[in-house]
Amino acid sequence: MIDFNSRSALSDRLNFLIDEPINATAAESQRRGYLGASIVGHHCERHVQFHLMAARGLVERKQPSARIMRIFDRGNVYEEKARQWLKDAGFLFGIPPRGREFSDFGGQFRGHVDGVLTGWKRPDILCPVELPVLWENKCLGAKGWKKLSTDKLKSYSSTYHAQVQVYMYYTGLERCLFTAVNADTMELHHEIVPFDLMEAELSRSRATGVISATEAVAMVPRCTNDPTFYICRFCDFRGECWK
Ligand code: SF4
Repeated sequence: MIDFNSRSALSDRLNFLIDEPINATAAESQRRGYLGASIVGHHCERHVQFHLMAARGLVERKQPSARIMRIFDRGNVYEEKARQWLKDAGFLFGIPPRGREFSDFGGQFRGHVDGVLTGWKRPDILCPVELPVLWENKCLGAKGWKKLSTDKLKSYSSTYHAQVQVYMYYTGLERCLFTAVNADTMELHHEIVPFDLMEAELSRSRATGVISATEAVAMVPRCTNDPTFYICRFCDFRGECWK
């Protein structure tokens, strides 16, 4: 029984009521049952495997807080806004020949692209991007956005870079327009990421390796022998990995 006594702040009371259903859906969202393309390029192969195991209910994953779930929601909201901004600028969105979703290895490896730009409706202005082009959008805090806009995607995030390579592989597209919204300043970064067949195939091979190991009840290697390694410090599976 929650004690909504008279000294509780209004924010605390309302936030409890708001967080409760968000927490309930957070648990559901962890059990999707397959490996997603959005994680396959993570620095640590074992982390990728833990994602698959958590999706199948084989390990517990630290549940994201309601605040983190609202950050995910923010990403969805700004994806829709960015899509509309691009449409208003003159782009037309279409469906790739093989669809927006892919599924491989018996449905155990899947992904869903944000969109594909297929047309340009302003004959008075030359289209600034070669079409068709895959479109992927992220919403980042100011520090990450600044680093991305300086370093470019491949240096900024192996995970995001692998994700768009896998999407290009399955959609048959040869370039990706990667858009990042700065959630603090609302600046926009755009860059073209070319298709890299070798990287896409490495990611698919990693996916199949992780799926096979999980079926064989074996663990793939960790990325380090040091549990204090900086990536491990932020890993949701740290306790399970090093127990
Ligand atoms: S704790 Fe470190 S080694 Fe273990 S899965 Fe996470 S990132 Fe990989």
